[in-house]
Amino acid sequence: MKAIFIDRDGVINKDPGGWTKHSYVTRWRDFRFLPGVFTALTMLKKRGIKVIVISNQAGVNKGFFTKKSLERITARMIEEIERKGGAIADVYYCIHKREDNCSCRKPKVGLFKKAMKKHGMRCRGAYFIGDSHVDILAGRKMGCKTVFVLSGKTSRKEMELWKERPDHVFKNFLGAVRWILKQKRS
Ligand SMILES: [Mg+2]
Repeated sequence: MKAIFIDRDGVINKDPGGWTKHSYVTRWRDFRFLPGVFTALTMLKKRGIKVIVISNQAGVNKGFFTKKSLERITARMIEEIERKGGAIADVYYCIHKREDNCSCRKPKVGLFKKAMKKHGMRCRGAYFIGDSHVDILAGRKMGCKTVFVLSGKTSRKEMELWKERPDHVFKNFLGAVRWILKQKRS
């Protein structure tokens, strides 16, 4: 089964930190696709690689937006992506706050396990692309090849201070996908 896992904010869309009302995407207007995303998703679709999104959205349980609006934003995101030739196979969100002590908020891996079960796939050896430390920690726990992109909330300098570093670093999602597809060919 060919699939890759990706984070959402900072990978697909501009990270909402600092410029939106609550630093979350609470409405469609604040969902800004990053450059190259449609091209990357179209390339993956053509190669028959499933894309599964795994994202922390604690803003729901913090009361900044509802589950319903999150669903609406997701539906719109998928619609736009499909219109441009790409596809998203599935989207998993953790809506809990840190204090909720759930088992799905990254760096915990509950959502990965759910996705594996539903799609009958393995995380071991699959790529996980994200823009923050929790992405790298979660991906590593699942045995994924961890890929960090600089299009999100973390600078290269900050990343270099982490104890657990990503396996690969790229400018953005498109850069990562181009490289991943080259690996798969050889
Ligand atoms: Mg992110």
